Amino acid sequence: MFEKIIVATDGSDHASEAIRVACDLAKKYGSKLHIVHTPQAIGDTLIVGYTAVPVPPTKEEIEKAGREVIGAAEAEIREAGVSDFTSQLVSGDPAHAIVEEAKACKADLIVMGRRGLGSLTGLLVGSTTTKVAQLAPCAVLTVK
Ligand code: ATP
Ligand code: MG
Repeated sequence: MFEKIIVATDGSDHASEAIRVACDLAKKYGSKLHIVHTPQAIGDTLIVGYTAVPVPPTKEEIEKAGREVIGAAEAEIREAGVSDFTSQLVSGDPAHAIVEEAKACKADLIVMGRRGLGSLTGLLVGSTTTKVAQLAPCAVLTVK
């Protein structure tokens, strides 16, 4: 049923849970997994996973930090016993990047955390997930 699954990661624990669920589904359905990460500039500091990169970061610093988030996700996926996966570091607005990747690789499912690295307590669903659910060309599974 799910031939291509996109899993979106911001390096948060929520995203790790999304990776765990995506791997479980990929094993059950024999799906290909595609990891997407978009480094985000927030205020004066670039937050990539749990790493804060001082501003102004160079293109190389952003790419290096982003690759670390992708690398961590790849390690989690391998550990879960999935070997058929690809990954993409994308720039721009995370929600649009995830939706465009889903369209480009004809994904039939996007798996993501309900929340991420955001610090707004009381928020039930983060802005990235809300936007992806509105714009996605396929099913979206949000994970607690
Ligand atoms: P907000 O960003 O609105 O303050 P939040 O960070 O708690 O709140 P979201 O950004 O919606 O919530 O994160 C929810 C999920 O979206 C994450 O668990 C992850 O799966 C995905 N996600 C968030 N940011 C990115 C990103 N930069 N790149 C890839 N996936 C992301
Ligand atoms: Mg966020």
